[in-house]
Amino acid sequence: MSTPLLTDANRRLERALKYVNISDDASERLKFPKTSLKVSIPVRMDNGSLRVFEGYRVHYDDTRGPTKGGIRYHPNVNMDEVQSLAFWMTFKCAALNLPFGGAKGGITLNPKELSKFELERLSRGYIDAIANFIGPDKDIPAPDVYTNPMIMGWMMDQYSIINRQRSPAVITGKPIGMGGSLGRETATGTGAFYVLQAMMRRFDQPPQNTTVAVQGFGNAGSAVARLLFDAGYKIVAVSDSQGGVYAPQGLDIPSVQHFKDTTRCVQAVYCRDSVCDLVEHDKITNAELLALDVDILIPAALENQITAENASDVRARYIFEVANGPITADADLILENQDIYVFPDILVNAGGVTVSYFEWVQNRSGLYWSLDEIHQRLQTQIVAEAEKIWAIAQERGVPLRTAAYIHALDRLSEALNARGTRDYYVG
Ligand code: NAD
Repeated sequence: MSTPLLTDANRRLERALKYVNISDDASERLKFPKTSLKVSIPVRMDNGSLRVFEGYRVHYDDTRGPTKGGIRYHPNVNMDEVQSLAFWMTFKCAALNLPFGGAKGGITLNPKELSKFELERLSRGYIDAIANFIGPDKDIPAPDVYTNPMIMGWMMDQYSIINRQRSPAVITGKPIGMGGSLGRETATGTGAFYVLQAMMRRFDQPPQNTTVAVQGFGNAGSAVARLLFDAGYKIVAVSDSQGGVYAPQGLDIPSVQHFKDTTRCVQAVYCRDSVCDLVEHDKITNAELLALDVDILIPAALENQITAENASDVRARYIFEVANGPITADADLILENQDIYVFPDILVNAGGVTVSYFEWVQNRSGLYWSLDEIHQRLQTQIVAEAEKIWAIAQERGVPLRTAAYIHALDRLSEALNARGTRDYYVG
């Protein structure tokens, strides 16, 4: 039976299904994850004690190719969340026409409490536990919240040790020196920027007159904030897990970024300070940020941030979902009634998996591309799919999210039909 977040995700699917020519069997199959693995990972801590962590890896659907999806380290990671994230990956890869199915993984922990050595042992232990479940032609992990290139490097190394051969294509988002792709670290933000630029051309909204608030100044949020700042947009608010800063005249994003980077504790993997400490700006809470009177709101932190309780407080005219699942299905309906354009996660944040795909292709071919080539390919692919989704929304008179699901379902349906009847035993 579906659990709450996955139930919510499935409501978006239900809405799109009535516009798509897909068999009942195939649409029923898409409502459930294919395989869900839960593992326990014993880790020897620095003080000599043993701690056991819970980890997950879910393959949602692999009809269009090996599954692909990130690994999250967060205290709230649970099976429901991982299944939902794997669901979104399935539709994201289809919407972007990448030859992948959807997967996701995670470990339940607060990574800021672990030393670097403990994190390495945990990351290698996770790969020991799921090694049979992943592989360059099976399932290819990548970074997500609170994981980074260094952790991907440890994981690829551990998989290579287990298999007694270097296997760079098993994981993407690796350090460049270990087969990572140029442009991967900022790919999610860069892709979001390309989508935003292409879509905003439709509205009378020049960058210098456009105010933006970004919730979540992490990998994805800080990259999109920087690109928008450089393009002349006025970024008036940014936040992280500890709170946010607000400056109606506009924040100097390079300074905010510099502050975040330089206050990082040298012994730790993670920044221990908050953008809040930029005292010359007003401090605001994350709830206040979401309700700011801005043109564009960019949720780039975690899921379930805009819900039925606070959706009517949103005053932005355009929302670009850089985070996965930041808006609940109930909130969707409220935002629709307020005529707010919601550009959905499965399109807006797909730059990350698109450049992950490029990394996988480069690892397999042994031929590495320049940053210009990566950016050009990313822009061409993500803007083309954004235009198709926009066109579906106009033609069918549906919200952009439903249009994105229709677009993905068309491709999934084609693949499911082409696969034949073995899984469904229909005539
Ligand atoms: P990250 O760990 O680099 O950054 C997360 C940021 O969110 C941090 O600054 C953290 O302080 C902040 N944060 C956490 N809880 C918050 C809260 N309650 N309110 C405000 N801020 C909060 O993670 P990321 O990789 O940037 O991922 C952010 C979102 O983007 C996630 O939903 C993730 O699934 C999605 N995403 C990431 C990628 C990628 O390539 N990294 C790709 C696609 C989607």
